[in-house]
Amino acid sequence: MGRVQGKIAIVTGAASDPGLGRTTAMTLAREGAKLVVTDVDAKGAEDCAQKIRDAGGEAIALHQDVTSEEVWQQVIAKTIETYGRLDILVNNAGIAVLKLLDDLSLDDWNRQINVNLTSVFLGCKYAVPEMRKAGGGSIVNLSSVAGLIGLKSCIAYSASKGGVRLMTKSLALELGQDQIRCNSVHPGVIWTNMQSGARQGSKEVGQAMAAGLPLGRLGEPEDIANCILYLASDESNYVTGAEFTVDAGMTAM
Ligand code: NAD
Repeated sequence: MGRVQGKIAIVTGAASDPGLGRTTAMTLAREGAKLVVTDVDAKGAEDCAQKIRDAGGEAIALHQDVTSEEVWQQVIAKTIETYGRLDILVNNAGIAVLKLLDDLSLDDWNRQINVNLTSVFLGCKYAVPEMRKAGGGSIVNLSSVAGLIGLKSCIAYSASKGGVRLMTKSLALELGQDQIRCNSVHPGVIWTNMQSGARQGSKEVGQAMAAGLPLGRLGEPEDIANCILYLASDESNYVTGAEFTVDAGMTAM
């Protein structure tokens, strides 16, 4: 039996390769979940779903801009139409607008908050009624170390991720009575397309930066997917409103 055998899961932002959403979707599928993988990159999402099916799992891909309320309603409806219930929501899709204050426009700010924070509110809003019908569920929201500590060039990004952190705790209080758990994950420096974009595409630059961390190395998407797997599974059934740093000790310094 897999660790999330028979559970129905939505993972947003699952197209990127390497990316946290894709690896999370593949990990949940390997452990027995049936997947709905979504992304603005429809081709990448379909590729992720196909890889899951090729490995013997079950998955459908949907085109989704997580900032659209209407599309969220459609994604939840399609999930129920396909699998009949919803147990797990991983709010993973995100962007990193990394600019200093003088360069950060109001458009930049609004885009960052919409994609990283408003999207999580919308996902929870439309997933929760279905989780209530299922008798409970697990929501995992991707925050960041930038949601815990200040980092240069992260004004809007930190605001979005700090918002995700505290929204997660408020939701946990409200949804506990429905046996819906809600936790946040705070990755450090994990080598994905987003991280590559922030390091001029050079893994060496990323590695040099990570050398100063207690574990002294970059993280891989599996490091985050394994934490999300635990939070999605019944192994964590007494865990809600918690924040999980997976950061090689960065925030312990
Ligand atoms: P990534 O850029 O590799 O992948 C993000 C995915 O989200 C992409 O497939 C992209 O197409 C999708 N996406 C972007 N905007 C979208 C939208 N409006 N609607 C739907 N999909 C959209 O990033 P990643 O490194 O895999 O990050 C995943 C999550 O983890 C993000 O929320 C990110 O902020 C967070 N995070 C990552 C790191 C890291 O080091 N990689 C660290 C801390 C937090």
